[in-house]
Order: sequence, then structure tokens, then C-alpha cells
Amino acid sequence: MPLYHSQLYKDSLSQLNTAAKTMNADPNIVERLRYPKRAIQVSIPIRLDDGTVKTFEGYRVQHSMTLGPGKGGIRFHPHVDLSETTALAMLMTFKCALVGLPLGGAKGGIKVDPNLLSRQELQALTRRYAMEVGPFVGPDKDIPAPDIGTDRQTMAWFMDTYSQINGYASHGVVTGKPISIGGSLGREAATGKGVAYCINFAYDKMDKKIDQNTTIAIHGFGKVGIPAAIDLADQGARIVAVSDYTGAVYCEQGLNIAELQTYVMKSKGLLKDYERPGVTKITNEELLSLDVSVLIPAAIDSVITKKNMESVKAKIIAEGANGPLTKEAIKFLSDKGVFIIPDILCNAGGVIVSYFEWVQGLAHFFWDEDQINKTLHTILKNSFAEVVKKAEHYNCDMKTAAMCAALGKLEAAMKLRGLFPG
Ligand code: NAD
Repeated sequence: MPLYHSQLYKDSLSQLNTAAKTMNADPNIVERLRYPKRAIQVSIPIRLDDGTVKTFEGYRVQHSMTLGPGKGGIRFHPHVDLSETTALAMLMTFKCALVGLPLGGAKGGIKVDPNLLSRQELQALTRRYAMEVGPFVGPDKDIPAPDIGTDRQTMAWFMDTYSQINGYASHGVVTGKPISIGGSLGREAATGKGVAYCINFAYDKMDKKIDQNTTIAIHGFGKVGIPAAIDLADQGARIVAVSDYTGAVYCEQGLNIAELQTYVMKSKGLLKDYERPGVTKITNEELLSLDVSVLIPAAIDSVITKKNMESVKAKIIAEGANGPLTKEAIKFLSDKGVFIIPDILCNAGGVIVSYFEWVQGLAHFFWDEDQINKTLHTILKNSFAEVVKKAEHYNCDMKTAAMCAALGKLEAAMKLRGLFPG
């Protein structure tokens, strides 16, 4: 499987090249950042409940470790491959650099539809994957976290497997763990909360306030989409549409987010089956083209492309997902005046609180939720201001500005460390 075939990898490289050109970055630094430091492919054979053995493909890619240990989620999804995982690892490098964390960029995943496996099969899959990538991860090497299709239970199994292999409890090997085994308060909501903070910063910049006239559509009502919806609904915004992989639901007056959260999380309900008075079914494609104040793509990458970009009517796009817009869509929508909050800024809340979790685990000293949310807010506010300043300085769009801010920090660190062996 070639490394470079995916749309996301091509788009990520193109963003890197555009930023490098805009800020006149050192071509030798850019040359190094085009490639992952290390890409591991593993086979994961597990015994299914019916007694047969099935082998799954897994990956862990470490893109850069210049700033610190690798950091990035583990994805369980049928689209996972080496190229997509590498692109996501690369985005993690830029995300951690942008928000000033002492961490590098990594990502992992298994090509699997987790909805088709039982709990026991998922546990076997996670444990065998953890065993196979075990030599390459660790609190000082590379620290996984949840992503699409994985959650705190997945992290608990991963942490336990790593700890069993090493013979002691290792809190720092993953983040996004349950609180009772060293997780951090505020981690589960952090990415969505960060998306909501960034939308507020965008409104402040436009001298506007979020109120009941603010309409919001969320593509992907999962670990990112749900907390973002809760925070924005609490501020008075109307969440008019949300979706999952089975379809979308729409209500002009605003959906009941608390009830939808219970339906999706506690009852494991699918949105295609959600029936309530005043709520209509629409498709994911229709959701993306709703005339709303803010669109939050928070599912998978490359959902707004040259095929559907002309139908997008939102005034602000907050990239909750990694790489939800292709490069053509970014150019078209930025030129049209749509304010795009770039993924490496907008969804950085997750890795920022993962960093807090890692620090708390290493120090064996835990913070209260207020301190976590305040520190998260400060880091995102400063990072948002930095990106706006770069956009003004280079007279470029927010996506390019965010990459320039991140690339500048990486360039400085890479020059100081030099190129081994010289
Ligand atoms: P999740 O699995 O909790 O939720 C994903 C949502 O997207 C679900 O509602 C799912 O049904 C939906 N979905 C999946 N495939 C789809 C498709 N083909 N079309 C429409 N909807 C689809 O995942 P998550 O953790 O919320 O992650 C969502 C995005 O946010 C990903 O791009 C991820 O990389 C990014 N992200 C997540 C975190 C985090 O902390 N979880 C942090 C940063 C970025």
C-alpha cells in the first residue's frame, strides 16, 4: 500500500508546502517533515466468538519526535490504512507544535468496523494490537489516546496490556483513560469544549455574540460532536442538525441535545431510528449544505470536497474532525469569505488535556476540573490569537496561518537539534 495515496496525505502535504512558501521556510526542514520518522504495520490475529480466527491490519505511525514523545489517537474504522494514519500523524505534529506542547506527532489504527465485533472480540483485538506495538510506545516514547471508534475502555485495555508486559502499572502509556485508573477530569469533553471555545473566539473577533439566532449543524455526533453541542446549546445556540454514520436529524427550533446524548451514548441508538415530534430525517449530505451560522464537521476527513463545496452555506466552519475539507474546498470557501477554524487549532482541546493527563500521571498529582478547563481555555485563546496574527501578517487564510505558526516552531526546534548524524 503506497504511503501517499490518500486524499488526506495529499492535502496535508499541500498545506505544508503552501505554509512553507508563505513564510519562506527552510526547504531542508520541509523535506524532513514530508516523511514519517517511523511507520509500523502489524497483523492482529484474534479468535472470534464463533471459534474462527480472523486477522486484522494495524498501524502505528510516528511522524516527528522533535518536540517530545509521539502523541496521537488510535482509530478503529474500516477506512484505516497506512497513508491515512501517516497523514493524521503528520497533523498531530503540527497540532502539538501550534499549541506549544512538548510532544511530537503520532497516530495509530486498525482497519475494522468496531460495530461488528462483540465486547470480548474488541478486547482481544485491542490487547493483541497493544502487544504488537508495545515495543514502540511508552510514556517517554509515544502515548496513544482515543479516536474514532475507540474510547476510555479501549485505553484501559491498552494500558493494562502494556502494564502486564512490563510488570508494573504504567499510567503514562495512554491518555483518555477512565478516572479510576489515572485518567484526567475534563478529558472526555475536552475536544468538543475546545471546539466551542474556538467558535466563541471567532464570534468575539467578529464582534458578535452566540444567542438563539446562532444555528449550528454538527456532522458526527460522537466524542467530539456531543460535548461541543452541549456547550453551545448551554450558551443559547440552536443545534438544528446532528448526524452519525447512519444519517442525520433536523429540527428548526433546535434539537434536545441532552435527550439525544442519552439516546446515542446510553442506549447506543442510531440516528436513523430516532423518531420525535418536530424532528425530521435528512441525509449527511443535506446536513453539510444547511444554511446555518456554524457548521461543525466532526466525523471523518474529506467530507467537503470539490463535489459539494458550492452547496455549503455556513458562515463559519469549525473543523472538529481532522482534515474534513479538501484543499480545493478550503480555497473555494476561504475565498468566498467563510471563516474556517483550522483543525489543528479547533480540535486541539483533546491533545491539550491529554497532555495534562500525562503530566498528572507522571507527577502522580491530580488537578480539579476547573483548573483543567481554565488552562485549556488560556492555551486555546492564545493559540487562536497567534493564528489570527499570522493570518494578518502573511495576508493568508486561517488554515495557512495555523500551519505557518506550527511550522515556525518546528523549524526553530529542528535547527537547534540539528540533523543526526550531522
Ligand atoms: P467517534 O467515533 O466518537 O464519533 C464519530 C462520529 O462520526 C460518530 O457519530 C459516527 O457515527 C460518525 N461517522 C463515522 N463515519 C461516518 C461517515 N462516513 N459519515 C458520517 N458520519 C460518520 O469519533 P470522535 O472521537 O468524535 O472523532 C471524530 C473526529 O474528530 C475524527 O476526525 C477525529 O480524528 C477527530 N478528533 C477526535 C479527538 C478526540 O479527542 N476524540 C481529538 C481530536 C480530533
